[in-house]
Amino acid sequence: MARIAYVNGSYVSTANAYVHINDRGYQFADGVYEGISIRYNKLIDLEAHLDRLWRSMDELAIISPMGRRPMAIIFNEVMRRNRIRDGFIYVQVTRGVATRDHGFPDYAKPALIVTCRRLNFDAVRQRAASGVAASTQPDIRWGRCDIKSTALLPNILAKQAAREEGAFEAVLVDKEGFVTEGSSTNMWIVKAGHLITRSTSDNILSGITLARIKEIASELDITIEERAFSVTEAKEADEMFFTSSTNCTMPIVKLDDKKISDGTPGPVAKRLLDAYFDYTDN
Ligand code: PMP
Repeated sequence: MARIAYVNGSYVSTANAYVHINDRGYQFADGVYEGISIRYNKLIDLEAHLDRLWRSMDELAIISPMGRRPMAIIFNEVMRRNRIRDGFIYVQVTRGVATRDHGFPDYAKPALIVTCRRLNFDAVRQRAASGVAASTQPDIRWGRCDIKSTALLPNILAKQAAREEGAFEAVLVDKEGFVTEGSSTNMWIVKAGHLITRSTSDNILSGITLARIKEIASELDITIEERAFSVTEAKEADEMFFTSSTNCTMPIVKLDDKKISDGTPGPVAKRLLDAYFDYTDN
């Protein structure tokens, strides 16, 4: 664990970093968050992450405790103080401290915490070289999954269920049998060289890595169809993979008991992963 955290105006040792028991983030999960990866001391797609954080706050009428530039300075300072070259910054804004009452308080000051940790991207690459198993889990979340809210219990339960089945990630499935996204990732399949991924206007999180991979794919002349795909279609796909800031592009080689194609990572996911690392590392 990194030693220094930013908590509401101060840089403090993680061991002494506390929030108030009446913080609405703690009481109600009344807050939003972002996770940004750090490669060679650089925050990857920082502006897009700030855009999404501001959008999440706006949707919940949480007023940011500061502007984008001061917040970015804090991210860099947390990285610097913890000497993190490759890692992950976690940012959380909650509605703040108030006497417990479901309605919004009119006096609470939003609370901001920023923490970071090291992340070994070589290990991510190695994992991607062999691919991972995933398991389908029912998507029991709410109707506003576009908001990056800290209310993550359904995601946590799905991930835990997947782990108990020996899988690395949960593939969330709606009542009609269509894949929505992963517990903390966006899902893709490949069919006859085309990419297929659900539209981000369809009650899922608008992944920053997903947007980046879309751009990379169009540079590589790989076509993308934005539509929902079913579990059956995924199991019959040539390739399946997921994207997120910490997983980059991660091939799924087995979904439940079914191998995807021959059970090894496919060429399209590999090409996208290489191109993604070219982007983050240069
Ligand atoms: N979907 C969900 C539900 C997530 O929690 C995340 C990661 N925060 C993602 C997708 C991937 O988003 P990103 O590429 O911005 O990390």
